[in-house]
Amino acid sequence: MNAIILGPPGSGKGTQGVRLAERLGVPKIATGDLIRAAMKDGTPLGIKAKQYYDQGLLVPDDIILELIAEVLALPEAAQGLVMDGFPRTVAQAEAVDALLAKRGTQVDRVIEFVVPEQELMDRMLKRAAVEGRADDTPETIRRRLEVYHEQTAPLVAFYEKRGLLTKIDAVGTVGEIAGRVSEVLGG
Ligand code: AMP
Repeated sequence: MNAIILGPPGSGKGTQGVRLAERLGVPKIATGDLIRAAMKDGTPLGIKAKQYYDQGLLVPDDIILELIAEVLALPEAAQGLVMDGFPRTVAQAEAVDALLAKRGTQVDRVIEFVVPEQELMDRMLKRAAVEGRADDTPETIRRRLEVYHEQTAPLVAFYEKRGLLTKIDAVGTVGEIAGRVSEVLGG
């Protein structure tokens, strides 16, 4: 099962992705986590990504396409994976399709987490206070939401056209939302 969790920053993709991956018995892989680790380790990817990351902008596709190729070649992802935070652009979505096709698989399901804008702002400001993420300042939060609408939201139509997308109301308790995700994916 190759599943994608699509949704704006702060919509709970990470929290739900872990639970979903456990249930499906596949890894959850988040490009955001990989980028944060690369920045911490000071790798070439981390150094290139930092200026975009810190401003709340997407890291350019040429950099991310390489990262996605590495992720989809991981042996632990051979039986499937939950993709959290990627693809984020149409070019990335096309790359995911091509890389999975090479492996003889495909995107099986895309779940879109729907959360009202004000709730997203509130959640991320709260998270900023707890985690102290560099990209969780009010200004970058607003920028990340704009970037989502401009560059990532077109993926909703991209996957809807193929009949792969299900929208989920992602407001509620962690358990309630996990239940809605399970309904979509069966089991
Ligand atoms: P996230 O943890 O998914 O919210 O991502 C945090 C930041 O990492 C984003 O604001 C981007 O700067 C960068 N990032 C993560 N995943 C991607 C991606 N697939 N494409 C471009 N930039 C990304």
